[in-house]
Amino acid sequence: MSRLALVTGGTRGIGEAISVRLKTAGYLVAANYASNDAKARDFSKEFDIPVYKFDVADFDACKTAIESIRTDFGHDIDILINNAGITRDNTIHNMTPECWHKVMETNLGSCFNLSRNVIGTMRANNFGRIVNIGSINGQAGQYGQVNYAASKSGIHGFTKALAQEGARHNITANAIAPGYIATDMVRAVPERVLEKIVAKIPVGRLGSADEVARGVEFLVADDAGFITGSTLSINGGQHMY
Ligand code: NDP
Repeated sequence: MSRLALVTGGTRGIGEAISVRLKTAGYLVAANYASNDAKARDFSKEFDIPVYKFDVADFDACKTAIESIRTDFGHDIDILINNAGITRDNTIHNMTPECWHKVMETNLGSCFNLSRNVIGTMRANNFGRIVNIGSINGQAGQYGQVNYAASKSGIHGFTKALAQEGARHNITANAIAPGYIATDMVRAVPERVLEKIVAKIPVGRLGSADEVARGVEFLVADDAGFITGSTLSINGGQHMY
């Protein structure tokens, strides 16, 4: 039987590309979203992927949704892609505590909320693949993003600890750190700022969502069991270390 993947924020942008690529590769896929019902409906219809509306920042909502997905598919979740993420940019002297907490809970808290609720069955099944979507800005920092950079940097530490805990149970945990990818999130950046960003990318362009999805497909494969605790940078050469 096919493995079942849950992709958070899986109806738009990078998440959409991940959902579609995994479905095309033969996986069962459930895609989560937060509020954009119209987009989720179109996505579900176009790709024949069931969608689940819940807030990844809410632990109880994640627990309930995971139980529903398990019931609907008659299958445990084998693969978890923690992709949902938001920005609330501002310099620290202007940032409200609400913007700090919202970003931390959505981007980093979600990794705990989802992983905590799938890890039991992954351990029981002696198989699991967890991929957390970090960011180049969690590696290098970014002006106006102390909240976002901290949340994404936290994802990288979370991933390494989880990898150590999962290793004996054939559960891998890896992170992907995308650079600037052409999605709604990046399209929201003012044009003059975007021009400066692209000028710093050695390959001379933004990445595509599918180029990130390709990395996910690689990391979740059954035969990727020796790759764990790693961070795969997909950034056009913008940040190397
Ligand atoms: P988009 O803004 O295009 O899409 C975000 C997705 O996440 C949507 O499906 C959205 O649902 C969902 N989402 C947001 N908040 C929640 C929530 N609280 N609960 C459930 N779902 C939620 O984002 P991108 O595709 O650009 O980014 C995807 C990931 O990649 C993020 O983690 C981002 O930080 C990361 N990233 C992106 C980069 C880029 O250049 N685009 C670069 C580096 C990292 P809805 O449609 O309902 O709003």
